Amino acid sequence: MQGEDMSRKWVYAFSEGDGKNKKLLGGKGANLCEMTQIGLRVPPGFVITTEACLLYLKDPKQGLPEELLDQVQKELSVVEKKSGRVFGGRDNPLLVSVRSGSAMSMPGMMDTILNLGLNDETLQGLIQQTGNERFCYDAYRRFIQLFGKVALGVPETEFDNEFEEVKQKAGVKTDVGLSARDLADIAKRFLNVVMRFTGKSFPSDPREQLEIAIRAVFNSWGGKRAVDYRREFKITPEMANGTAVNVMEMVFGNMGDDSATGVGFTRDPGTGENVIFGEYLVNAQGEDVVAGIRTPKPVSAMATEMPRLYHELVDLRNKLEAHYKEIQDFEFTIEKGILYCLQTRNGKMNASALVRTSVEMVNDGLIDKPAALLRIQPEMLEQMLFPRLDPHVTKKPITIGLPASPGVAVGIAVFDADRAEKRGRTGERVILVREETKPEDIHGFFASQGILTSRGGKTSHAAVVARGMGKPCVSGAEGIVVDVRTRHARVGDQEFSEGALITIDGTTGAVYLGDVPMIEAEFSSHLAELLSWADNLAKLKVMANADTPDDAARALKFGAMGIGLCRTERMFNGTERLPLMVEMIVAETQEDRQAALDKLLPIQREDFKGLFRIMGSRPVTIRLLDPPIHEFLPSEHQLEEELEQLRHLRDILRGMHVLSDSVNFLNTTKGTHSPVQKFTDPALVDEIIQKKEAMLRKGRALHEVNPMLGHRGVRLGLTFPEIYRMQIRAILESAAECQKDGISVHPEIMVPQVCTSQELKRVKIWVDETRASVEKSYGLTLDFKFGSMLEVVRACLRADSLAEEAEFFSFGTNDLTQATFSFSREDAENKFLPMYNQSGILLDNPFEVLDVKGVGRIMEQAVKWGRHTRPDMDVGICGEHGGHPASIRFCHKIGLTYVSCSGPRVPIARLAAAQAALLENKKPVDKAA
Ligand code: PEP
Ligand code: MG
Repeated sequence: MQGEDMSRKWVYAFSEGDGKNKKLLGGKGANLCEMTQIGLRVPPGFVITTEACLLYLKDPKQGLPEELLDQVQKELSVVEKKSGRVFGGRDNPLLVSVRSGSAMSMPGMMDTILNLGLNDETLQGLIQQTGNERFCYDAYRRFIQLFGKVALGVPETEFDNEFEEVKQKAGVKTDVGLSARDLADIAKRFLNVVMRFTGKSFPSDPREQLEIAIRAVFNSWGGKRAVDYRREFKITPEMANGTAVNVMEMVFGNMGDDSATGVGFTRDPGTGENVIFGEYLVNAQGEDVVAGIRTPKPVSAMATEMPRLYHELVDLRNKLEAHYKEIQDFEFTIEKGILYCLQTRNGKMNASALVRTSVEMVNDGLIDKPAALLRIQPEMLEQMLFPRLDPHVTKKPITIGLPASPGVAVGIAVFDADRAEKRGRTGERVILVREETKPEDIHGFFASQGILTSRGGKTSHAAVVARGMGKPCVSGAEGIVVDVRTRHARVGDQEFSEGALITIDGTTGAVYLGDVPMIEAEFSSHLAELLSWADNLAKLKVMANADTPDDAARALKFGAMGIGLCRTERMFNGTERLPLMVEMIVAETQEDRQAALDKLLPIQREDFKGLFRIMGSRPVTIRLLDPPIHEFLPSEHQLEEELEQLRHLRDILRGMHVLSDSVNFLNTTKGTHSPVQKFTDPALVDEIIQKKEAMLRKGRALHEVNPMLGHRGVRLGLTFPEIYRMQIRAILESAAECQKDGISVHPEIMVPQVCTSQELKRVKIWVDETRASVEKSYGLTLDFKFGSMLEVVRACLRADSLAEEAEFFSFGTNDLTQATFSFSREDAENKFLPMYNQSGILLDNPFEVLDVKGVGRIMEQAVKWGRHTRPDMDVGICGEHGGHPASIRFCHKIGLTYVSCSGPRVPIARLAAAQAALLENKKPVDKAA
C-alpha cells in the first residue's frame, strides 16, 4: 500500500459514518449509520468502504492490506464493548454478519455471510449462553454451509446431499423436525464436506474467518451475477463502484417464540396503500423469509400474536418514513422480545404504487410536488398503460398463488432460467415457472414476460426482483408441482409441459392454462392528478402522433395537448381509398389524375373533420403526403405473379366459350348434350389485365434504387401539384366547415422533406390561393399555420432562410438521424447496430435515444437560426425520440416548444417534460462516443 492509502480511513463505525455518503459506504452501510445516528435500534457494527474494495480488487492476490485489517480490529473491539461479548470468546462469544452493499441496490446479487465467529469452541459458549442446543447447532451448520459456499466455493449440492441424508435418517421432511443431535451430525458432515472439497480443514479462527469473508464479499462485486445485473440495469461505475462490507453483531430471530424475523414495507408496495406491509416468521432466521422455505405470515397478524412488538414495529415504520421521506423496505429481527432494525432502503414499487404514494405523500405534507414528480422514472408509467385481464372472462384459473407483482403476462411455460433465456432471445414470450427462484436465475427473469413460483411469499426473491423489474409475478402457487427433469408440471389432476401457453395475473395471483383476453389499461385518478402537476411545471408541451380519430381520442385520454404529427399517407390505405389512390397514381394525364383526386377530396375532408372535432381548439398538425407513391402499389413481384395467373385464366375462359358455343351447336343437331355455362366474359379479364399491366408499368417507371432519398415528400408534391393542392383544400375546407359548426380549429399544415426555402415558397403559393378561395366561398377567416419539417440536414443548416416562409418547425428526427449518421433507418437496427452497441462503438441505438452530440448539435443550431429570423417561432419534434425521456430532457434544454409522440407514451413524455424543467440546472450523466 502506498503512503497516502496507508493513512486513509477505510472503516467507519455505524455511529460515525456519513449516512449521506452512499458512494463511499454503500446504500446499506450509509443507512445503517443514519439509522444508528437518529436513535433507531440497530445492532452495533461498522462499514468497510467501497474504496477499500476497489483497492483490494486492483490486486486480490495481495490479500487485504494490513492497515485495513488493523482498522477492522479496532472497530471490532468497539463492537465487543457495546455488545458485551467477545469475538472468538469461549464464554460469551460475539457472532457477526458480513454483508455486501454498493451505492445502488442490487438485491441478492452479492454475497452475505451470517453467524461468523462460530467454531467448535465458541459454539459451546453459545450453547451455555442461550441454553438452546438445537438453535446453536442450527446456527453452526448454517454458518458452515454459507461460508463454505460463498467464501470457499464449495458447491451447494455437496451440502444439500448430506442434509437430505440426515433428514431421511431422522424420518423428517423439513428441517424443523430435526433434533439438536441431527443438526450436530449435519454440522460435522458439513465440516467434512469442506475438508473433502477444499483439501483443508474449515478455518476455525474467527479473525481468519472474518478476513476470508471480507475478501469473498469484495470478490462478489466482480461475480457473474452482479456483472449481469449491472449491465442489464445500466449501473455505471459513476453510479456504483465497488461494494462496501457491513459487519454487524448478529441478533437472532430463532431464539424461541419470543423471537422473530421479518421484512417490512412502510406502505403496500403492490398498491401504494398507506398501511404497513410485510411478512414475518416466529422463531426463524432472516434467510427463511427471503428464500421462501417457510411461508410467512402477514405483519398484520403480529397485532394479535405480539401486540407490544407490533406497536414498536409501527413506530419504527413511522420514524423511517418521517426521516427518509420515502417508502422504506426494511428488515427486522426480534431477539427475545427486543426489536432491531437490520437494514432499510428505498422500497421498490410498481408504477401504480409509486404514483399513488407520490400523490398521497404530497397530500400528507411529507414531500412537495417536485419531489413527488422526480421520484418516478417516466418509463415506469408504461406499466400503468398496459392491458389487464378482461374481468368478464369466466375462464377458471388452474390455481391461485400470491399476487406478488401486479400485471398480466402471457407466454409459454419454461422451467429453468437458461432455457428461458434461450427461448426469450429468439423472440418467444416466456413465463419462467420454478419451485422457487434464486439470484442466479436473474438472466431468466430478464428474458421472461412474467414469473411463476410454487413456493415463497410476497417478499421471496422472485417477488422482490419481479416487482423491481415491473414484471408480473405470482409466487407461492403451491398447487403447482414442477418436475424440471421431465419438463412437466402438475396442478391437481391437470398437467402441462414445457412450452404450454399460460397466463399469469400478478394482481390477483391467478394462473390460467392458455391465453386469456385482456382489456386496455385505465388511467388512474392518482396518475391524472400527478400529471396535472407535471403539466404545470413543464415548459414543453406534449402532443401526440395520431393519424385517425381513434388514435386522437386515445391520445387525448392520455393528456395530449394537440396532434404534433398526422401522417396523411396512413389515411390512404383503407380498402375503399386504396383503389382511388392507385387510380390517381396510374393516371397518364393530368385530367385523369385530377378525376381520381376529386374522388379522394371529400374522403380526406371527412378524415380531417373527424380529427378536428375530437381535438377541438387544440393544434392539429397535418403533414402533406410524404412517402414515395410507388409504396401504394403492389410489389413488382406480386403484380407479375397475378398477371401470369390472369393470362392463364383468360385462355381458359376463351376455351370455355369455344366449348360452350360448340356444345350449343351440337345440341341443335343432336339434342343429346346439356348446355355448358360460359362463366366470366374474357373481355373483363382482359380489362383487369390491362389495369394491372398499367400498374406494373407505373411501378417500374417509378422504381428508384434509393426510394427513401428519392421522389418523396415535397419533391413529390412539387412534381404532382394536384396531390398537395387536394390535401391543402381538404384541410382548409374541413377547418371552414368545423368553424361553421362553431368549433374553433387550429390546423397546422406541415411540409415534409424540405431542403430549401424555394420548395416552401412554392407550396405556400398554393396554400395562399386555396385560403383565399375557401375563405371566400365559406365567408369566414381561417386561423391556421404553415410550417416545415426539419428532417433533412440542409434544411437545418438553412433554418434561418426557411423560417422566412415557415411559421413553425418540427424536427423529424427519424430521418434526420438517418441522414446525419448515413445509417438506413430500415436496416441498421437488424444489421450492424447491435454489434456497435455491444462493443461500445455507440452506447445507444440512435433511432431510439436521440444522439445529442451529433443530431442534437444540428438541432440546437437550427433552433437558434430559425428563431433568429422568427423569434417567437414554435419548434417541436415528432420523430420517435419525442417520447423518450432522456431525449425529451435535451429538447427542453434547447428550448423546443413541444414534443410529439405516440398516444400511449404521452403520459411518459408529460412526466419527463416536468422532470426536464425541474432538473434544468443539473448536468445529465455524460456518455462517451
Ligand atoms: C421523422 O422522420 O422523424 C418523421 C417523423 O417522419 P417519418 O417517420 O414519417 O419519416
Ligand atoms: Mg420523416
